[in-house]
Amino acid sequence: LDGREFRRQGRQVIDFIADYYDHIDEYPVRPAVAPGFLARQLPDTAPSWPEPDALASALRDVRDLILPGVTHWQSPRHFAHFAATASNVGALGEALAAGLNINPFTWAASPAATELETVVTDWLGKALHLPEQLLFCGGGGGTLLGTSCEAMLCTIVAARDRKLAEVGGEERMGDLVVYCSDQTHFSFKKAAHVAGIRRANCRVIPTCRESGFTLSPAALQAAVRADEAAGRVPLFLCATVGTTPTAAVDPLRELCAAVAGHGVWVHVDAAYAGAACICPEFSHIAAGAEAVDSFSTNPHKWLLANMDCCALWVRRPAALVAALGTDDDVILKDAAASAVVDYKDWQVALSRRFHALKLWLVLRCHGVEGLRGFVRAHVRMAVAFEAMVRADPRFEVPVPARFGLVCFRLLPADDGTAEATTNELNRRLLEAVNETGRAYMSCAVVGGMYVLRCAIGNSLTEERHVREAWSVVQEQADSVLTPAGA
Ligand code: PLP
Repeated sequence: LDGREFRRQGRQVIDFIADYYDHIDEYPVRPAVAPGFLARQLPDTAPSWPEPDALASALRDVRDLILPGVTHWQSPRHFAHFAATASNVGALGEALAAGLNINPFTWAASPAATELETVVTDWLGKALHLPEQLLFCGGGGGTLLGTSCEAMLCTIVAARDRKLAEVGGEERMGDLVVYCSDQTHFSFKKAAHVAGIRRANCRVIPTCRESGFTLSPAALQAAVRADEAAGRVPLFLCATVGTTPTAAVDPLRELCAAVAGHGVWVHVDAAYAGAACICPEFSHIAAGAEAVDSFSTNPHKWLLANMDCCALWVRRPAALVAALGTDDDVILKDAAASAVVDYKDWQVALSRRFHALKLWLVLRCHGVEGLRGFVRAHVRMAVAFEAMVRADPRFEVPVPARFGLVCFRLLPADDGTAEATTNELNRRLLEAVNETGRAYMSCAVVGGMYVLRCAIGNSLTEERHVREAWSVVQEQADSVLTPAGA
């Protein structure tokens, strides 16, 4: 890396990104492109030699060819999925980590990077009001991974190996059973499958509207008991704080009590709503976490850490290390000191990025109070959006807004309309809203109902964007409710 050239090129890239953000509100949020649109415009092979000032010409292609085909996740009008929040220090933290480009797979491979990760995961855990048992200062500990799916995979593997050692070895693999609800993110099933759990041994417990789509402790207990009675081995529960469809919060304390004594590893997937725990008024959503085995959340979703960043805390790090640790490599073994954290043993891969730097910058530069203000602003906007929806009698809010998420649907004038027809109406409404390019929302199907999801959480979203998004929904509702030809 040549310092002089890096400064020159770095300025070009920073200017490019800053210009993008200056104009981000002008792009249609979702691109109107067809599959293959980009591949058709690019050469079939990489250049043999760089063209003169290749970076400048590549940046022109980013502007002219690539940006027209991206979904603008940072647009203040992006309300789909859950946000991937961005901040100046989040982006610059990524740049700093990429610039230093170290590989802290063991403590010895980069002592400061490892120690910063142990410090910053404790900082974040305390800021989120997590129980000490999950933090280094209380005998547990945290690590930074890329995604929640990785957190699930690592913890299932740790639970699996611990359980197999207890119940008689690998021949019991086919008996291991994992539990979740019908609202759990699909990545849990994927992680369980990758960990070798039989697909037939993933118990998906149904939820219902009356209980706000939360996992029922009684139903969980009944499932665990039935499996035990049939000679199977209950292994792992994935509870969710802030489900993807409606941001429902499973009752952690009651769920832990329901499986107590059955040797089930309880993991909490708080990918989205874990961020809300930073506000004292929301910290009750993690009540009962003292009894869980692991907890993960994605600061990239709602805490201003740019993609990607998933924090995972475990109560007994030794279980992770026993399952994922490797000491075959003589170089790594020699380098490792005792009584240090070697993060390669907490994850699937050996190599890793300097994740901690970005999160540390975010926490230092925004402060816990700054992050609370950020979360609260979105919650206020969601309250305002929900009130607008409720004020229009054509719409229904089937579950109360939670955190920054509002789920809603349009109801046909005729009460007797079949659910499938209502669902189709709402599917058309969503498509019409998204086609405008002025707002981008997503959907969920809960309890058989197709609902639109307005997830407010982007760094640039202000109240005016939320009001405009609602106007777009109302206009499009007018058009989908008007019979064709009228
Ligand atoms: N869990 C929940 C509740 C989510 O909402 C999501 C994604 O939105 C995930 C897990 C998957 O997260 P990741 O992409 O980090 O694996």
